[in-house]
Amino acid sequence: MIENITKVLKKYWGYEDFLPLQKEAMACAGSGRDSIVVLPTGGGKSLCFQAPAVAMPGLAVVVSPLISLMKDQIDALTECGVSAGRLDSTVSDQQRDSVFERIHNKTLKLLYVAPERIMSGGFVDFLRKIELSMIAIDEAHCVSMWGHDFRPEYRQLGLLKEALGGVAIHAYTATATDQVRADIAVQLKLRDPEILVGSFDRPNLVYKVRRRGTIVKQVCQVLDRYRGESGIIYCIRRKDVDGMCVKLKAKGYRVAPYHAGLDPERRKKNQESFITEKVDTIVATVAFGMGIDKSNVRYVIHAGMPKSLEHYQQESGRAGRDGLEAECCLFHSGGDYGTWKSILQNSEAAGIEVSMAKLNGIYSYCTALTCRHRMLVSYFGQELEGDGCGACDVCLGELDCIEDSLVTSQKILSCIVRLECRFGGDYTAAVLTGSKDARILQNGHDNLSTYGLLSDFTKRIVRDWTEQLIGQGYAEKTGEYSVLNVTEKGRLVLKGLETPKLGKPAKKRDTRHPRASKAEKQSWEGVDRELFEELRQSRRVIADTKKVPAFVVFGDAALRDMARKRPSTSAGFLHVSGVGEQKNKQYGPQFLTAIKEYCQKHSVEMDVL
Ligand code: ADP
Ligand code: ZN
Repeated sequence: MIENITKVLKKYWGYEDFLPLQKEAMACAGSGRDSIVVLPTGGGKSLCFQAPAVAMPGLAVVVSPLISLMKDQIDALTECGVSAGRLDSTVSDQQRDSVFERIHNKTLKLLYVAPERIMSGGFVDFLRKIELSMIAIDEAHCVSMWGHDFRPEYRQLGLLKEALGGVAIHAYTATATDQVRADIAVQLKLRDPEILVGSFDRPNLVYKVRRRGTIVKQVCQVLDRYRGESGIIYCIRRKDVDGMCVKLKAKGYRVAPYHAGLDPERRKKNQESFITEKVDTIVATVAFGMGIDKSNVRYVIHAGMPKSLEHYQQESGRAGRDGLEAECCLFHSGGDYGTWKSILQNSEAAGIEVSMAKLNGIYSYCTALTCRHRMLVSYFGQELEGDGCGACDVCLGELDCIEDSLVTSQKILSCIVRLECRFGGDYTAAVLTGSKDARILQNGHDNLSTYGLLSDFTKRIVRDWTEQLIGQGYAEKTGEYSVLNVTEKGRLVLKGLETPKLGKPAKKRDTRHPRASKAEKQSWEGVDRELFEELRQSRRVIADTKKVPAFVVFGDAALRDMARKRPSTSAGFLHVSGVGEQKNKQYGPQFLTAIKEYCQKHSVEMDVL
C-alpha cells in the first residue's frame, strides 16, 4: 500500500519525499488501523489522509470544523486533479448534485462535512450503504473538553465508530497534551489506535523578542524587510488594532484591520483581501486566525505580549506553513504583564492560578536569554536536539550578554531592598540612573547608597535588566501597584552565589539586515530571486482569473524550486517539487514560457538539476 501512496503523492502533489512522520501516518491510514496524529502547524497533516484516500478504494469522509477550511482544501485538491467535494449549508444545489453523482459513480475520493451535518437526518444511514475508505477527523482536539477549543458538536462523533460498522477513524491535530490525546481516543471510541506525535519545533521560524519602544517604528522595520509579502500583526486590544492600522496606512503600507468590533461583512472582506493578497498585512486581535491556512505568511508580529505560551505558539505558528523561512517578532513591555494580570483577575476567577502560571511562563520567555526554540519546545514537554538553533535572536547573536551581569544585578537588587520593596520598576530605574525627578528628591532617595549607581546607562536599559531579573525569578512584582521585591533566589545573587544573565541588543550589528537563519539559507539556495518574483506575478494573474488564493495555484516553495531548477521542458517541469501531473498540464506551458523568456533575457542557465 505505501508504494501506491508514494506514487499518488508524486502523481497528484508532485512531492518526492515525506515530511517527518507523514510516511508512518499514511501507512497507518492505508492499513486501516485507527490513529491519532499530532503534528505541528505546517507539518503536512492534510496529506496524511488525502494521499491514502486517493490510493485506497472507496470514499474518505473528512470532518472539519470550518467551512472556509473545507473550501480551501477542496480548491487545492481540485487543482491537483483529485475529486473532492463538500456538503454544508452554503453549497449550491448544483454543487450538491455533483457530489452525489460522483459518490454514485464512485469517482469522489474525499467528502468534507461539518460535524453537525454528519450526524443529522439519515446521513449516517446513507454512508452505511457506500464503500468508505476511512473517516478523518481534522482539528480533533475539538472533541475534548480538556483542549482549548472544545466544540459540543464534535462529541457526537463518538457514535460514528459503531454506527459505521467499525470503519477506521483517524484523528489529526496540532495541539494535544497527553490528557487530550487520551481523551480523543476515548471520545471517538478508537480501537487500539496508533499514536504518532511529531516534534513541536518549527525550525523554519525565526523567533525574536524585543522590549517595546516606539512600536510603530519597530513594526515598520520588520515590514520593510518583507515588502509585498504577507504577514500578521497581533495587538492586545481593538483600539490598538485601529490605531496601528491608521498609522501604517498613513505611511503607505497595505494593511487592513480585523477584530470582533468590526461588522461581520467588513471583517469577512478584510480577511478575503488578506487571503487573496489585495493587502499585505492584517492587523488583528486574537479573534483572527482560526480557519486561516494561507501557507505563505512570512512574518507574525506581536505588538504586545500574549497571555500564554500556548497562545503564542498558536498565533506565531501561522507563519511559514509552507516550510519556508518566516519571522516571529514579539514586542513586549512590563506593562503588558500588568494589563493581563488585571484582565485575568477580573475574568477568570475560577482558574486564576493556572492563568497566572501561564502568564508567568510567557513572561519568562520574553525576558530570558536562552534559545527561544528550546524554551518553547521544553514548555510543551519536548527537548530540542543539538546546540544552537540558528533561528532565534539569542542564537543568531542579536543580543549580547553583558560581562559584569553579577555586579549589575547586585546593584539593581540592592536598590530594590534599599527602597524597602515599596516602589515599582520605573521608579527604581530612575533612582539607579540618578534621576533628578521631584518625587525622588522629595523622598530623599538621592541620599541612598544605590542612587546613581548605574548612571552610565539609560533608564530604559536599566528597566530592561530589571524585567530580565524578574523573568528569571530573582525579583518579583507584587500587590496592586506592582512594587518590586527581591525573591529568595535573588538573595543568593546578593550573596554572590548565583549569577543572572543580563543582555542588551548587540551593538555592532545592523538589525535591519539580520543574519540569515539556516532555513533561509537553505530555501534560497540556487534560487534566482528575480525570476522567483516574476513567477509570483504569473501566479497572481492566474489566481485572480480563477478567483482562488494564490497559494492554491502554487505554494512559494514550488515557485522557488522552479526558480532554482529553471526547467525548459514539460518533463523538467514535472521534476519541480509541488508540480503534479495535473498542474504540469494546466500551468506548465505558461510558467515554462515565463522561465524561458527570463533566462534568455538575462543569460541565466536553464535545466539545473
Ligand atoms: P498542516 O495541516 O499540518 O498545518 P498542511 O497539510 O497544510 O499542514 O501542509 C503544510 C504545507 O506543507 C503545505 O504547503 C503542503 O503542500 C506542504 N507539504 C505537505 N506534505 C509535503 C511533502 N511531503 N513534501 C513537501 N511539501 C509538503
Ligand atoms: Zn536559538
